[in-house]
Amino acid sequence: MKILLTTLNSKYVHSNLALKYLYSVVAESQLDVELKEFTINNEKDYVYGEIMRGGYDLVCVSCYIWNIEQIKELCTDLKKADPHMKFMLGGPEVSYDSTNFMKENPWVDYIIRGEGEYPFFQFCKCLAVGNTDPSLVSNLTYRLKGNIVENPIATLPVMDKLPFPYNFLEVEQDKVIYYESSRGCPFRCSYCLSSLEVTVRRLPLERVRRDIGYLLYKDVKQVKFVDRTFNYDRQRANDIWKYIIDKDNGKTNFHFEICGDMLDSDAFRILSKARKGLFQFEIGVQTANPYSLQAVERETDINPILYNVRKLMDMGNIHVHVDLIAGLPYEDYKSFGRSFDKVYGAGADNLQLGFLKLLKGTRIRQEAGEYHYKFRNKAPYELISNDFMSSLDLVKLKMVENVLELYHNRGGFDRATEYMIERMELTPFGFYERLADFYYSKDYQHAYHSKEDLYRIIYKFSMRQEARFSGISLAAKELLERDMAETMNEDSVKRFNRKGWNI
Ligand code: SF4
Repeated sequence: MKILLTTLNSKYVHSNLALKYLYSVVAESQLDVELKEFTINNEKDYVYGEIMRGGYDLVCVSCYIWNIEQIKELCTDLKKADPHMKFMLGGPEVSYDSTNFMKENPWVDYIIRGEGEYPFFQFCKCLAVGNTDPSLVSNLTYRLKGNIVENPIATLPVMDKLPFPYNFLEVEQDKVIYYESSRGCPFRCSYCLSSLEVTVRRLPLERVRRDIGYLLYKDVKQVKFVDRTFNYDRQRANDIWKYIIDKDNGKTNFHFEICGDMLDSDAFRILSKARKGLFQFEIGVQTANPYSLQAVERETDINPILYNVRKLMDMGNIHVHVDLIAGLPYEDYKSFGRSFDKVYGAGADNLQLGFLKLLKGTRIRQEAGEYHYKFRNKAPYELISNDFMSSLDLVKLKMVENVLELYHNRGGFDRATEYMIERMELTPFGFYERLADFYYSKDYQHAYHSKEDLYRIIYKFSMRQEARFSGISLAAKELLERDMAETMNEDSVKRFNRKGWNI
């Protein structure tokens, strides 16, 4: 019996932690198990060929919103090519609707719902002794005499019982290393799958220190904690941050998703000692509209969050990324603009605009009728419209998102954009809206633009404003030159100057 654990990651630098856990729970068994990861950008034929050549009896695939459609296509072809090949799926995309999914996809033999380690271990243990009775495996959905059967869900394992996933696998130096010190989230945001988990389970501190110590010893580039709200227990988070600061190898960066309003004075005291580049924080703000927060049961007050974001930015040693979600209940286009301005004003390094996805299993999807949510049929089930945002509003926000990414998040335009926002007497949102209108009216969105060309485009935009704001383009040009000198190397600046400002 040859088993493959596989998935299609969204980028080469990503890797799949769930598969590593599955591998580690059966690594010491007698079974022949391989782990091979591909990406959604790999040629279809290449992935198909690699799996066919492997001669696997059982192919286990980890499914998410970003890969499910490609996985369906790939596995349908593989099953045609080798009808004896069995397919076992797992992951959030198949966990919440497994019976229907199997009805719609006849090539699927098994689905493991929820956390996969224990059921996969049980399944493999049975296989190892030649027992193929699927009724013995918890969380399993399978076919039996033309019917689809769902076995009960097992009690969630104590986290410390799970092996360190890098015990049996090489740490890939060129990839982001994912690590999990806790599972579940204490909060109940209705659009989020993590809100469905009833408890938060965590590894003991000693174990976390040992695991981190190993990753530091391996000099990996980035460790990304996938804990849903890393600092839900302030003391524990402070202890881990302190440990990392004390053991810092000068190379590794650690990424955490945190709750911004839960940073206390101890946290700031500890974090202030971190090397610049050691930590990167992702702080979900989502909206500044209190009615929206209430409607999605997100119990948070955004003022302390933004206060703490500013404080982190003032410290200057931690990279901070904040998120907004367009499409929450009671958030219309104008209210979204206000949320944008408030959050932008906190000055984080990155402001990411996300668009609500009505994920399978979430409460917001079950309650979609209440606000007349329309969303796309296929993953990632992105919002089309609701009672508060029209489909055109969302298209306009996508345009803003695009220019925000180019002119704010990637950096290099701060002086000039700040000046233009003030000179044009616009709010930040109003400015990016105006810039987006210009960018799309010139059809720049159709092609990739080098950094140099982005300077030329925004300069052209400033020239467009001359009629109303005399002298704006000259001042903008000077500031753009200073921004450029700071972010581009000398050769690029020389190349830019040879070609000039015309585009
Ligand atoms: S959105 Fe964040 S805080 Fe809310 S339930 Fe999900 S993980 Fe927890």
